[in-house]
Amino acid sequence: MRQVVIVGASVAGVTAADTLRQLGYDGAIILVGGEAHPPYVRPPLSKAVLSGAESPQSVLMPALRADVTLRSASPAVALDTAARRVRLAGGDELPYDGLVVATGARARRLGPPGLAGELVMRDLDDAVGLRDAMGRAGSVLVVGGGFLGMEVASIASAMGLTVTVVDAEPPLVRQFGRYLAAHLTAAARAAGVRLVQAPGGVELVGGPSITAAKTAAGDLLEADLVVSAVGCQPNVEWLASAGLGSPAGLLVDERCRVRPDVVAAGDVVATAHGGARPRRTPHWASAIDQARCAAHALLAGDDAPPYQPRPYFWTEQWGLEIKICGEPPTGAAPDVLAGSLEENEALLRWTRDGVAVAAATLNHRMPLVKLRKLATTAV
Ligand SMILES: Cc1cc2nc3c(=O)[nH]c(=O)nc-3n(C[C@H](O)[C@H](O)[C@H](O)COP(=O)(O)OP(=O)(O)OC[C@H]3O[C@@H](n4cnc5c(N)ncnc54)[C@H](O)[C@@H]3O)c2cc1C
Repeated sequence: MRQVVIVGASVAGVTAADTLRQLGYDGAIILVGGEAHPPYVRPPLSKAVLSGAESPQSVLMPALRADVTLRSASPAVALDTAARRVRLAGGDELPYDGLVVATGARARRLGPPGLAGELVMRDLDDAVGLRDAMGRAGSVLVVGGGFLGMEVASIASAMGLTVTVVDAEPPLVRQFGRYLAAHLTAAARAAGVRLVQAPGGVELVGGPSITAAKTAAGDLLEADLVVSAVGCQPNVEWLASAGLGSPAGLLVDERCRVRPDVVAAGDVVATAHGGARPRRTPHWASAIDQARCAAHALLAGDDAPPYQPRPYFWTEQWGLEIKICGEPPTGAAPDVLAGSLEENEALLRWTRDGVAVAAATLNHRMPLVKLRKLATTAV
C-alpha cells in the first residue's frame, strides 16, 4: 500500500494515522480535514471551554507526526471507489490504496441550516460563539436534555443565566437509567433550572431570529438564547457518489470495514454487534477503539482482531463528574458499592441476572480499567 487517505481530522482520523504508523505502515498518509482548525478534542468544548475555565487553544491536539500530511479546510465532496479517488472541495483528487472514513457527525438542528438564532454545540467555533453569547444574555433555553444539553444548562446556570431545558422525555434517562438521571435532574432543579417535559416535541419560533420554542400543547418557552442539543447526524453526504452511507451512518463489518480497501471509525460509523440492530455510539472512547481496529483491518484484513465494543463515556455537570462503563438498564436501581448519592460521591453497579452490565463513578476516583472490570464481571 503506497498511500492511505484519511478523511476527517479529529480523534478517529488522528488515531487511525497513529495506529497505521505504530503497526509499521511506511507509505504516505494524507489526513483531510474539513475545518480550518488543526485537530482538536471536543469533550472540553461543552465543559471547560464553554465555562471559560480553559482557553480555546487548550483543546488543540498535540502536533501531528511529521510523516502525516494534513490538508485542512479541504472538505471531501465525492468518493469514487472504483478509481480509488477522493475529490476535495477545491477540485483536487486524492488517489488512495487504502481509505479511512472518519468524518464524524454534525449537530442535528430543528430548523433548516443557517436558521438565525438556533445555536448548537459541536465545533470549536460553536463553543466560542456560545460562550460569548451567554456572557451577554440573561436567559437560555436548551432544547434537549441529553448529556450535552445538560452540560450546557449546567454551565449557563453557573454563569447566572435563567435556564430552561425542554425535552420530550425526562432528561438523561436514556444515557444513565432512571436512578442516576433522577439524581442529576434533582441537582439541576436545585440549581434553579426549569425542566419542562414536552411529549409532543417543540417547534422553534421567532423572527427574524429564533427566540422561543413552542410545545405541541401550545406553551411558549422564551429566552434570549435558544440552543438545540438534539443529537448528531453522521457526515455521510460526500459518500453518496459511491453509493455508501445512509442517515443512520456508514455500516461497517466486525472489523470496521466497508470493503477491503475502505474502513471507517468514529461518530460516522454504525456497527451491528452480535446480531443487534446497527447503531452509532457517538462517544470519544468508541471513536478511538474503532479507529485502532479500522487501521489494523486496512493493513491486515481478516487477520486483524475484530472490534469489541466497550461502552464508556463521562460527563461533568452540576459539580458532578460522572464516568460510566457499560449501559445502565433504564428502570433498574444500581447497587451502591461505595459512598452514597446523597453525599455526591459514589460507586454504582447495575446487574442483570447476576451479571454486571454497567458501573459508574460519581465524584469517585477509580482507574478506568478497574471500572471497566467492575462493569463486566459476574457478581
Ligand atoms: C461538545 C461535545 C462534548 C462531548 N463530550 C463528550 C464526553 O464528555 N464524553 C464522551 O465520551 N464523548 C463526548 N463527546 C463525543 C466525542 O467528542 C465524539 O464521539 C468524537 O469527537 C468523535 O470523533 P470523530 O473523529 O469520529 O468525529 P468528529 O469529532 O465529529 O470529527 C469529524 C471531523 O471530520 C470533519 N469532516 C466532516 N465532513 C468532512 C468532509 N466531507 N471532509 C473532510 N472532513 C470532514 C469534521 O469537520 C470534523 O473535524 C462530545 C462531543 C461534543 C460535540
